[in-house]
Amino acid sequence: MSLGFDAETWPVVLDTLTEKLKKINLPHQINNIKTFEGKVSKARENITIRQKIATYISKCSEVHHFKNGTAASRLRDQGNEKFKRKDNAGALKLYTESIICAPEYGPELSLAYGNRSAALFHCGEYRAALDDVQMALKCKYPKNIEYKILQRKAQCLLRLGSYAEAVEVLNSCQAGVDAAKLSDEKKISVMKDVNAMVLELEGLLNRTNSTERDQTNDPSPLFVNSSLPNASPKLALKSSEEKIKGRFVITSQSIEEGELLFSEEPYSSVLLPEQYSTHCHHCYRKLEAPMPCKKCTQPRYCSNACVEEGWQEYHQYECGQLDLLHSIGIGHLAVRTVLVTGLEKLVNIKQSIKGENFEYSNDDEYSRVFSLTHHVDKMQYTVTAALLATFLTKKSKFIFPTKSPSQQTEDDTDEDLVNYIGGLVLRHLCQLVGNAHAITELRESENGDVQQVRLATAIYPSASMMNHSCVTTIINQFKGRRLLVRATRSLQPGDQVTNCYGPHYRRHAYQERQDMLLNQYKFRCMCEACADLKERNFMKKFEARRCNFCDGSVIDETCTTCDKQMKTSEDYDAEIDGIVGELLNCGIQDTPGERNRIQRLEKSERRLSNILYKHNSHLARVRDMLARAYSDEGEYSLAAELTRKCLGTVSERYGTKSIEVGHELLKYTDLVFAQLNNGEQLDPILLIQSLTEARDIFALNYGENCKFVAELNQKLSLLNQP
Ligand SMILES: [Zn+2]
Ligand SMILES: [Zn+2]
Ligand SMILES: [Zn+2]
Ligand SMILES: [Zn+2]
Repeated sequence: MSLGFDAETWPVVLDTLTEKLKKINLPHQINNIKTFEGKVSKARENITIRQKIATYISKCSEVHHFKNGTAASRLRDQGNEKFKRKDNAGALKLYTESIICAPEYGPELSLAYGNRSAALFHCGEYRAALDDVQMALKCKYPKNIEYKILQRKAQCLLRLGSYAEAVEVLNSCQAGVDAAKLSDEKKISVMKDVNAMVLELEGLLNRTNSTERDQTNDPSPLFVNSSLPNASPKLALKSSEEKIKGRFVITSQSIEEGELLFSEEPYSSVLLPEQYSTHCHHCYRKLEAPMPCKKCTQPRYCSNACVEEGWQEYHQYECGQLDLLHSIGIGHLAVRTVLVTGLEKLVNIKQSIKGENFEYSNDDEYSRVFSLTHHVDKMQYTVTAALLATFLTKKSKFIFPTKSPSQQTEDDTDEDLVNYIGGLVLRHLCQLVGNAHAITELRESENGDVQQVRLATAIYPSASMMNHSCVTTIINQFKGRRLLVRATRSLQPGDQVTNCYGPHYRRHAYQERQDMLLNQYKFRCMCEACADLKERNFMKKFEARRCNFCDGSVIDETCTTCDKQMKTSEDYDAEIDGIVGELLNCGIQDTPGERNRIQRLEKSERRLSNILYKHNSHLARVRDMLARAYSDEGEYSLAAELTRKCLGTVSERYGTKSIEVGHELLKYTDLVFAQLNNGEQLDPILLIQSLTEARDIFALNYGENCKFVAELNQKLSLLNQP
């Protein structure tokens, strides 16, 4: 990431620093210190580290994100040009930039809000336009043109169905016209418009009794669970003596597939810098008409409520300093966790933390974060925590609210507090390696694919209690910051509820999974897919040969079904490579109309299905190509039949509820619809089953509101199915 100035990035600083410190054996000394606080204190005492930190902090502060009234008014003028040319979207963007850099006081902010409300109104965004009018009025919109913006307010209210309120606004508009000192002619014309609107509104008021907009609240249920907050009451938290399991989540009652298991807001979370321009800094909603921070130009918010909440909880300490916080990556979330907890709380628990008796309690949310597992600490984390502790002292008023940040802290008691806070930052940093969750959003790309995009990083104390398994039982969805966890299969009482931390048995081979888990989480996985020797070979199935005796898969020269030995022949391997290579290289899949194309594919498919296991990925690929070739030639029933075979392989490989199966089912149902359109007589039962299955898969993976669910529901309604 570019920091916008010519400086070494923090990881580079860390690397050179660590090399230097190795010579005086400091990493080893720090490693031997037991407490996080002691480690940070030791690092902060070292003169080399102190100097590096001081230089880095001052480098990061060189780039300012100050408000600029001149720039704001220039951007507004540019916006006006676009607005005149009826480029509302273009005008909207420039007005937003003008709002972001307009100073808190002065006319630019109110004028920019006023102009953006006009652009929003023309885009049909009446609710957002109304919000901007309110902001313009709040920021002291010039009195002589206030009547204009009041007219717009009334128009917004009219479109939103708040007729009575609109009439009230128009009444105050009349006073505004008097105050505006307009020429008599202009005054008459404006009043004519106002009166016409009042008449229209009174007509509307007589017809309907105020149509209240329904404020759809978040429908996700809030769970009451005494052992695990924000989890379904059917779940319980258990502790085990075994070190590897620690605390884990089990079911106390049976759970159905798709059932909601957790509905949790994060304790703390941080938006990724690449999402700053498009998402609210505080709630991660997509921005329509962004609101600025009062002091700096970096974060953007969806509403004033988010501006205020963000400021109170953390931004007052981060304002203007986000460059430094971005540069330390996940460390930003560690410091944010301390900020949202608040100094008062941290001071209150200082003695019990030092006495090592600050214990997990469901009534104390911070204790639940504090007691999350943490992994082996690295020298780099300690130095980063030292940097952050110094940052909080010198650049914010978090630790010393009454001192100006530039005042030095030489006092012993002050140093003690700084090291204590630094120790907490270090603890969280070490916890995040294993406990941070990514908040994602589903985004549709231009070619219609849906992708999961990372928006933010967060800590969910309850959901973090789930242990890893390479065979997951759950799926994560997000509603803004709220994490919704659903079961992907039914569970019996006493079953453990597990989450896959990344290495999934259907996507990573056994050894690869073990290496990933050992590296990042420091444990060996013994889940059902890892403990069972046969299951460990799961991924090899898709490269296997076919057993000549029972059609099973031959792995390492032995059939996994009948145990008979089968020698691999190099001739076979060469032949398979030859067939597949030829098909791919000659680009045969892209030349419809070629006469012998289908024959050649059919021949390859026959040969490969003879020598390869039925779910071998090469075979699946050739089948997919052949199905497409059939479909190009209008041979829909042959294509559909082959797609069903591919569906079997995709289910085996990715699981019956996987998104891959959803897409394969879409392909299949499209082919069946093509058959129907051709006038072929078909029993629709299999089609209806497939459509319903696909709909349920997309709803489970992407949520009920995704476009695929809508599309499939529409197809089902064509067949008169609910
Ligand atoms: Zn927001
Ligand atoms: Zn700010
Ligand atoms: Zn495993
Ligand atoms: Zn066999």
